[in-house]
Amino acid sequence: MQRFKALVASKDETGQSLAWQELGEGDLMEGDVLVRVSHSTVNYKDGLAITAKAPVIRRWPMVPGIDFAGKVVSSSHSEFKAGDAVILNGWGVGETHFGGYAQMARVKGDWLLKMPPQFSPAECMAIGTAGYTAMLCVLALERHGVKPGNGPVLVTGAAGGVGSVAIALLAKLGFQVIASTGRTAEADYLKGLGATEIIDRAELSKPARPLNKERWAGAVDAVGSHTLANALSMTKYGGTVAACGLAQGMDLATSVAPFILRAVTLAGVDSVMAPKPLRVEAWSRLAADLDRAKLEAMTVTRPAADVVALAPEILAGKVRGRVVLELG
Ligand code: NDP
Repeated sequence: MQRFKALVASKDETGQSLAWQELGEGDLMEGDVLVRVSHSTVNYKDGLAITAKAPVIRRWPMVPGIDFAGKVVSSSHSEFKAGDAVILNGWGVGETHFGGYAQMARVKGDWLLKMPPQFSPAECMAIGTAGYTAMLCVLALERHGVKPGNGPVLVTGAAGGVGSVAIALLAKLGFQVIASTGRTAEADYLKGLGATEIIDRAELSKPARPLNKERWAGAVDAVGSHTLANALSMTKYGGTVAACGLAQGMDLATSVAPFILRAVTLAGVDSVMAPKPLRVEAWSRLAADLDRAKLEAMTVTRPAADVVALAPEILAGKVRGRVVLELG
């Protein structure tokens, strides 16, 4: 039986521990598709899981990693056969089902997508769950009628993973993008991705007034808390804010004013349980609308072993853009 390396998170009375271990196929959980994983990535949620800062892992022991790219080794699922290139985002992988920080994974074929032919496995993980979520946010803005002619779009957490991909996508679609960041020294990086204006996140991080001057037609918010409340209070009449994140906090101290006086829509975005047709749409739009040179510019590649060191860094807002992990 083939042996492979996996990062295993275990829990006892002293807390959570992590160790790279050799596992066999028999150690994997149930599923109808066996995948040789070539690449994974570090998303904010992976940071929470590995540092145990939030109860992301809900079954022990667990192989963390909420997404991966790889090739099918064997399959009894009608849609997949050996050799198919596949990607997986979410569905509880890395939380309740062994995830992407392993050289092999066995999962439900219903959770897998065929890899878009435009992308390599490394590019798929450069996008990762963060980039796919950025696309879901852009789709939400489009569904609610936000168009480039309506005004600029705000992106919060701009230098992070969701933020960086959202800026590149929105710029390609013709939007003026206002990037809110705590790292104003990264202005050149953000402008290179397509931001037209950079604002200091301190402008948005304090408690919000119910309504404020109308500044943007829409927003992609990866930050939550007061930042989301401020984003709502400054959204133009009829605009939409796509909320996907909680980097500042899970709370939301707002009022009904933006909704009942300015007809603003707050669109929730979830990547984990998003239905398959929406995922297929998001990945095909990423293939069409994400500038690959910009994707490369926002990505660094590291060996999988670095993930434990990267986890606290992403939570501290110190990771710029995206990190691809090579499983080797
Ligand atoms: P990153 O860490 O890459 O990006 C988050 C960014 O938020 C940071 O880079 C930083 O940007 C900003 N930030 C960090 N801390 C604070 C703070 N205290 N106050 C204000 N801004 C802060 O994470 P990801 O891009 O991977 O994820 C972003 C968020 O989206 C996370 O909360 C994550 O959980 C969520 N998410 C949700 C998904 C869903 O399905 N709904 C899927 C994927 C992600 P800067 O330095 O530019 O200010």
